[in-house]
Amino acid sequence: MNSKIAYSRNDSSDYHYKKLRSLVNDRLKELPSGRRENIKILAVLLPFLYIALYITALSQIDDIPTFYSLYCLMGIVIVFTFLSVIHETVHGNLSNNSAATKGILYFLDLLGANSYIWKKRHVTMHHNFPNIRGWDTDIQQSGIIKIYPHGEPSGYQRYQHIFFIFLYPLYLLNWVFIRDMKDFFSEDRLIQKTIKIPHTERIKMLIFKGIYVFYMLVVPIMLGLPVIHAFLALVSMLILAGVFALVSLLTPHANIKNEFPLPDDTQSIPSGWFLHQFQTTNDISVNNWVTRNLMGNFNYHLAHHLFPNISCAYAPEVTEVIRNYAKENDLPYRTYPLLTALKYHFLLLKQNAQPEDIFEEDM
Ligand SMILES: [Zn+2]
Ligand SMILES: [Zn+2]
Repeated sequence: MNSKIAYSRNDSSDYHYKKLRSLVNDRLKELPSGRRENIKILAVLLPFLYIALYITALSQIDDIPTFYSLYCLMGIVIVFTFLSVIHETVHGNLSNNSAATKGILYFLDLLGANSYIWKKRHVTMHHNFPNIRGWDTDIQQSGIIKIYPHGEPSGYQRYQHIFFIFLYPLYLLNWVFIRDMKDFFSEDRLIQKTIKIPHTERIKMLIFKGIYVFYMLVVPIMLGLPVIHAFLALVSMLILAGVFALVSLLTPHANIKNEFPLPDDTQSIPSGWFLHQFQTTNDISVNNWVTRNLMGNFNYHLAHHLFPNISCAYAPEVTEVIRNYAKENDLPYRTYPLLTALKYHFLLLKQNAQPEDIFEEDM
């Protein structure tokens, strides 16, 4: 599993990609170029709002319910910032100014998640190898839940469709305090296959984790908040933000309707890159002010995978072109309402909890 995998070259895939790309470019020419500016405004407003909520929370140390509420609101702002600004930045779509890009990525570090390793996980691994076991680090998760259909579930995984409900809320707690550490320090992590982590990044990661714990936990305690409330407010915030983030992040890939292709004997993915994106990614059928303006049109996920360098501000129109092209050319474009996608995710957990039948491929 460790040698590099590649997509099979496929003339029809290349043809479809070039044709679709030119149709998308034609459509983009008709759209207002100023939409990206709105995201730049958000890149200032959302961090400002986060800091304002934090300072207000510190001024409400004596009013514990208000303190909790403000911390939870910070959790919501984190997810909006992550989806609409940080994700856009990591793909190089927000700004050509490298200082602005660095500043936004440092903001992610201040939110407790290491930006260096997330960029590698998301851009290098998830975007290049969506839904491929052993390569897609976004789907790797903690290893407790079996997302991939291949192989046997271990003892406790046979109950994963029951206990996931207690585990998923811990998603961000795990990310901030465990997952980043493992990626930096544990040699069996997927990310370590492709990069050699510089020593300075390790030091930066530890410093930012320290800053995060200091301002989120220690400062309120120093100002007089009881330790138990400081701790529970942070956990509540990370649980709320974690559930919100997971609903957005899991539904476009990890469900029973999507494929989880394996490389063949020559370490290549037979369907080719273009078709692989359709087989492993679905859209979520929502389109409202919040998803458009605060969630980076993340639900138009196939458009993002096919054209990660086109700003998310244009994803609805890009999707329209993809959908029409897919219909004309018999490509498996799929979109599901949110609740249906969540149900399909649950069915995937349930299916993967069952022992494999003996005729299935032995991995
Ligand atoms: Zn992305
Ligand atoms: Zn994705």
